[in-house]
Amino acid sequence: MARTSKKTKSPSPHRSARTLERLANLVPHPRYGTEVVPSGRLGADDLISGPPEWSKDVTFPESAIPADVSKQNFSTMSHLHWYVDTLRDCRVCNRPFLFFAREQQYWYETLRFRVEADCHECVECRASLRTVQRRRKRYSELVGERELTDADMLALASDVAFLWTKGLLRDEQRLRRIRNRARRQIPGSAATRALDELVASLPK
Ligand SMILES: [Zn+2]
Repeated sequence: MARTSKKTKSPSPHRSARTLERLANLVPHPRYGTEVVPSGRLGADDLISGPPEWSKDVTFPESAIPADVSKQNFSTMSHLHWYVDTLRDCRVCNRPFLFFAREQQYWYETLRFRVEADCHECVECRASLRTVQRRRKRYSELVGERELTDADMLALASDVAFLWTKGLLRDEQRLRRIRNRARRQIPGSAATRALDELVASLPK
């Protein structure tokens, strides 16, 4: 007599439909990819605690790798004893991403980030946040200078166009002034054209 096979083993018995859906839509990581990576490191006797109850994180114990606590840089928190692939939603773009065990190892042992430093943004948003920071810094260094080399004027014009488009600059007078400087010093550059278009789009 045929029996329905109740014991068919799902490869991921603990993954809910919601988790599977998030895993199918991960922001790809250029170095670590888009898959939970089984490490084969977790022995039968090893226990790894799940995330705290208040956490929305989903973790994958099969990905766990043991930490070398002697390499960690910590102040108030205790050491991390394991790194484990952790599923999160990016707080900037809301897309799901994995904070990979090997990525954590790299953060906390090679780069020696403090173990309190946690990861809340996907790799794409982290890259664009760094771009914003870099451009803001350069903009603030250049904007007060009365004389700029052509290369610096190009950098300033391009930073202003970038920051304006991101909604991070709002002073229309300043936008016009920098556009005028760019027209005088670097006419015909793409950055000047971008500023021209931004100024033209301002409400009259
Ligand atoms: Zn993101």
